[in-house]
Amino acid sequence: MRKKEIKKDEKNSKEEFFFSDLKDIQLISGATIFSAVIVTFIAVLILPAKQVDSVIIVYTGILVSIFVAIYYTNPSFYLNPRLMLLPDIVCVIAIAVVSNALKGYGDSYIAFYFIVIAVDAFAFRFKDFLTVIIMTLVALIFSNIFILRGVFTINEIIFRSMIQIYSIIATAVIMRFFAKEALTERLEKEKIKRLAENTLSAIKQLRSLLDSIGDGVFAVDKSRKIILANTAAVSFLDWDKPISGKNINDVMQLYSENMQKIDPVKRVIETKKPLSSSDFIVLKSGKQQKYYVNITPLINLEGHIQGAIVLFRDITREKELEEQKAEFVAVSSHELRTPLTIIEGYLYYILSSKGLKYDDRTKIYIEKAHKGCLSLQRLISDLLEVSRAERNKLKLFLEDVDIVDLSKELVSEFQDKVKESGLQLILDVKPVRIPHCFVDKDRVKEVLVNLVGNALKFTEKGYIKISICKKDKYIQVGVTDTGIGIKKEDQKFIFNKFYRIEGWQTRKTGGTGLGLYISRSIVEKLHGKIWLESQYGKGSTFYFTLLANIKNKKKIQKKPKGSKELKEFVRKL
Ligand code: ADP
Repeated sequence: MRKKEIKKDEKNSKEEFFFSDLKDIQLISGATIFSAVIVTFIAVLILPAKQVDSVIIVYTGILVSIFVAIYYTNPSFYLNPRLMLLPDIVCVIAIAVVSNALKGYGDSYIAFYFIVIAVDAFAFRFKDFLTVIIMTLVALIFSNIFILRGVFTINEIIFRSMIQIYSIIATAVIMRFFAKEALTERLEKEKIKRLAENTLSAIKQLRSLLDSIGDGVFAVDKSRKIILANTAAVSFLDWDKPISGKNINDVMQLYSENMQKIDPVKRVIETKKPLSSSDFIVLKSGKQQKYYVNITPLINLEGHIQGAIVLFRDITREKELEEQKAEFVAVSSHELRTPLTIIEGYLYYILSSKGLKYDDRTKIYIEKAHKGCLSLQRLISDLLEVSRAERNKLKLFLEDVDIVDLSKELVSEFQDKVKESGLQLILDVKPVRIPHCFVDKDRVKEVLVNLVGNALKFTEKGYIKISICKKDKYIQVGVTDTGIGIKKEDQKFIFNKFYRIEGWQTRKTGGTGLGLYISRSIVEKLHGKIWLESQYGKGSTFYFTLLANIKNKKKIQKKPKGSKELKEFVRKL
């Protein structure tokens, strides 16, 4: 029963297609064949038997009928623009054959056919099947009048052949002329159909591409309503109802780290600036899940905002692993530090003790062991700093600090080392009052020690200059050197963790590639910025800024006494 219904549906849709298509170029071809068949039938009936070669006419009729049956029931034929004129060619051939079979009446028959073609072509312009039928019948009556009155009964062979050739050419010309409009329309239709098919397959391709993205993707309009969502987006949020048309905040409410409801999508749409962060929180069945979210504004060619693309991923597990890793580094570094300090202490004692006796070779070994200990200590304290910075546990003890005084202190601490290297260390302060900063003195000094230490490591001759000036609300500190400089391609990675530039100088000086990373973490924690300007082969300047005179009582913590660790650090450089 069901099968029958389906078949019926298929048939209906086929018929619909067939008839609607008949209204264009096929209409004229169909009507022409139809009228030709009728007139042949009438001619066979009314003409005397000796003047009709019935066998030829019947066979031609059968062949034309088979052709019509095959052609008009097969869309790949009648919809093919290249085969569009095939029925007319078949018809012209059939007419030529039949006109020869109607001995003595062939020319009249051709004339009739000529009229039919013209009338059909004219009727076709109305694109109405009924008009074509009426016009064909009119042509039939007229041609019969001509036949009965013997207007076209010329029997000379040459003349007959000429008319035949002429009628074939005329048919083709008329067909071409009137079919042109339909042909263009038909080709247009074909083009649109193909375009629609291509667009549809491109859409399908895009859809499957979007669905194969592992991250969740939403496209939202200006009012933050979801207009598109991929499979991952829906499954991430365990959403079983239709998602399209919902406000993104109803589907995925984002929270900040302190569990405040936030609407970053609105911000991106308002500011037209992209935003991405790994610190978003989504509540899923009462549990806090960490999400990485990247929001890009959707802007059209005219520059108007249309909405936004939201890409997101559940990174709860990664965050947990990261925290466990940082925790492990912190604990193990801490545990390693104690025995290492003891070893280093004893080695230092052996080396500096006058009473102890050992030969030169042993002295070299102890010195090497002591050096190794110092660099291991440096690596461990760097790792500890990094893990603190990454776990957001970098503690700040804020106080009123005079950066000029701090720099003077540092210059005097570095003076011996600088002289040893044959360099000059200059402090350049613009002759204006430099306001104090409310910062962690030891941390700022750590940044300065890192920068001056690097300058010292990578400069063979010339000078190192610390310059301090005021820029708007900020104090800007610059550490300039006349050393090896840094290539453009390395500059953008220099503040990355463990980044060291390949080269003999770096290998010679040693290091962990963590100093600048830690310096950046400290400066950013103090709401400043750090950057560099460098010319390869000529030298570099590292700048950092600190907020001038900005007090934040909440952040004040008791400062520990002394900065023993820092003094040690400078000693080890
Ligand atoms: P470390 O010095 O311990 O390797 P840093 O993070 O302080 O780590 O520096 C990273 C890299 O940047 C260094 O290895 C060095 O190649 C390059 N660098 C840093 N400062 C300078 C400088 N003043 N001149 C040239 N290269 C520098």
